[in-house]
Amino acid sequence: MSDDLQQYQVMRILIVEDSERLSCLIADVLKRDGHACDIAATLEHAEHALDVADYDAVLLDLGLPDGDGVTWLKARRRLGLDSPVLMLTARGALDDRIIGLDAGADDYLVKPAAMDEISARLRALLRRPGRRMNPVLQVNGLQLDTTSRQATFNNEPLELTRREANFLELLMRGAGSVVLRQKIETALYDFDDEISPNAIDAIASRLRRRLKAHGAGDCIHTLRGLGYLLEDAPRKQGTLP
Ligand code: CA
Repeated sequence: MSDDLQQYQVMRILIVEDSERLSCLIADVLKRDGHACDIAATLEHAEHALDVADYDAVLLDLGLPDGDGVTWLKARRRLGLDSPVLMLTARGALDDRIIGLDAGADDYLVKPAAMDEISARLRALLRRPGRRMNPVLQVNGLQLDTTSRQATFNNEPLELTRREANFLELLMRGAGSVVLRQKIETALYDFDDEISPNAIDAIASRLRRRLKAHGAGDCIHTLRGLGYLLEDAPRKQGTLP
């Protein structure tokens, strides 16, 4: 699998925050933007989450029931945590912000922060050099703006649901190669979401129908048991079954 698949704009974000009301609010906004989120209410939970999943970004509260976010981040950075970290805290004094950034945070937001600003700051973190993310993907006549989530084929809008757009994004980023089913499942669903065995196939079928209805042909191939492939070059007549 190419490294590019690690870079898709469908972000997987870990929210480390002990206020349930706040973490749910943030998760709702991020999910609305098409991202997958996990919530950890303690540093111990955050440790577990980081052990089992790769996160594109971590949103970190500082005052947590089992410790201090600054000390924890310093230790995690030494152990090799390289995800961008956005600190979110009520401590707004200049010294606190400097301590936070010195501990290895990439950015810092003081509560109360507007949800849209949290979302925008996360997008900005992922646009930084070294994280190759092009906001508009193009494969043949297909185009997907990963910021607005609008997809078009030959400039005709495709009305996609959030999950269909996310699925298409994964395929477009890996166009011409197989995108593994497990990768798709991890990216499209949160830990807590139940995945029915047919859910991914159902999304693929709907997407295929929409593309066909817009004249895109049958450009998504199922590799049974393995994953999906989006053709990266226009198909010549009769070259594929
Ligand atoms: Ca707190």
